[in-house]
Amino acid sequence: MDVDDSDSYVGRPHAPGELRSALTGRSLTAAHRRGKTIWLETSPAGDAAAPGPELGIHLGMSGRIVVAGPDGTLAEGGDPGRYDTRPGREVWNRFTLTFADGGRLVLRDPRRLGRVRLNPDIGALGPDAAQVTPAEFRALITKGTIAVKARLLDQSKIAGVGNLLADEILWQARVSPQARVGDLSAAQVNRLYRALKSVLESAAAKGGAHTGDVIAARHPGGTCPRDGAPMVHGTVGGRSTWWCSREQAPRTARPGPRSPGSSRGPAH
Ligand SMILES: [Zn+2]
Repeated sequence: MDVDDSDSYVGRPHAPGELRSALTGRSLTAAHRRGKTIWLETSPAGDAAAPGPELGIHLGMSGRIVVAGPDGTLAEGGDPGRYDTRPGREVWNRFTLTFADGGRLVLRDPRRLGRVRLNPDIGALGPDAAQVTPAEFRALITKGTIAVKARLLDQSKIAGVGNLLADEILWQARVSPQARVGDLSAAQVNRLYRALKSVLESAAAKGGAHTGDVIAARHPGGTCPRDGAPMVHGTVGGRSTWWCSREQAPRTARPGPRSPGSSRGPAH
């Protein structure tokens, strides 16, 4: 296969040409995914016995992988309703593998937030969100004092939950995004785990994180689809966050008496 890695931004820290020289002449032999990271194994080159480097592809927020056959027809791309076939959109092709038969695998990324790199550090990622067990989830989620939304987004703990999915999970579980992980009750942890699983299944079936039930309410004046209460906006874990003012109020996120002088949680 041949490689177009001329977009130095999605290929950083590799210099243009580095991916090309590492991959040209090899073939793809296996594909894996954990969380939001995809990696592809490559074959030995020439007479060498050792396999080639792993090619890591991270889609970022706007990237998608498009696979086209030798005649240019779309073979695979997921979510075809959102696939833009206008010729001018070739400019969004940030990284292209061209196979011996003329078929192509393209990272198409309008906002250029994706990454392509050799031998990505998979060991830095926690277990995949779709595979994490209840016991693993409890152990990974509940230690410390960080806000639960920030913990859900921490890819080193659980890999695969982005900003929209995190808000959807917290909303379905009726847990405040600002609740401290160490303060979560067993019932809240159980609800979060069940919400994680159902949200991931629903996103996969419907075509992405933007298909969640509360996504349409993420705007000023938005109301909760469940009880009609106003949605609230804030920054949690450094990310734009929306939650139901009634069911996800911080004060209800931690039932039971508080010790005098406790000032945890926002004042409002
Ligand atoms: Zn609500």
